[in-house]
Amino acid sequence: MVGCISFAYVVQQHRDGYRDTPILPGQKWHVHDPERPYPHEVTPANKLGDPPSDAIVLFDGKDMSHWAQSDSDNPVPAKWIVKNGCIEVKGGTGNLYSREKFGDCQLHIEWQEDKNVKGSGQGRGNSGVFLMGRYEIQVLDSYHAATYADGQAGAIYGQWPPLVNPQRKPGDWQVYDIVFKAPRFEGDRVVEPAYMTVFFNGVLIHDHQKLNGITGHRGVFPYEHTQPEERLAIQDHGPATPLHFRNIWVRKLKDYDQPEN
Ligand code: MG
Repeated sequence: MVGCISFAYVVQQHRDGYRDTPILPGQKWHVHDPERPYPHEVTPANKLGDPPSDAIVLFDGKDMSHWAQSDSDNPVPAKWIVKNGCIEVKGGTGNLYSREKFGDCQLHIEWQEDKNVKGSGQGRGNSGVFLMGRYEIQVLDSYHAATYADGQAGAIYGQWPPLVNPQRKPGDWQVYDIVFKAPRFEGDRVVEPAYMTVFFNGVLIHDHQKLNGITGHRGVFPYEHTQPEERLAIQDHGPATPLHFRNIWVRKLKDYDQPEN
């Protein structure tokens, strides 16, 4: 509420600016236009990585009510368990889906491989974060562990490896901050592809990268028509060493110049 009070205070103030300046190319606003809508205020978290005031918190360490075990309007209650303030993947129960749907968004999610993670290649603590249930940022132990580049941790799976590999050792917490731009359709035709910008432990690993289509294994898969918003999913890659998630929040992204009220 602090942000709302402060915003109201700001909009009532006199604004300086100019109307005798050029119109910005491709916009309807003058340079320094005092009539331009004032950006909404967001109160940032005290600790970087915690949710700001306009985030939808999907997991706060205890509450699983935002999740289901089905991509359905009749959700199957989540079977993955909450343990020590984390969600523990219960392999073999299927993917975990958010009950709410998202399109363009900023997603923060933290994950942890078991410090005694077992297996090799794609079998080494595999999970994944699926934007709109279709576009995967890979979760895997890739700390001094080999697999194909476009399948290692942080990869847009099967399409783009991360620019670099900033992964911490198993047992340490890893952080993804993902900016997702949803594809746009006219009928079934893609008129604008999806894009992702991703920070992995604070390091840029995808820079507004264009996606070829949906995620798949051993192939190139075209886009499939979706609604503007679809459920976020976390992958169940089958029984494996335990894998944990925590501190999950999303901000729905809107365009510039939102109305002030
Ligand atoms: Mg995966």
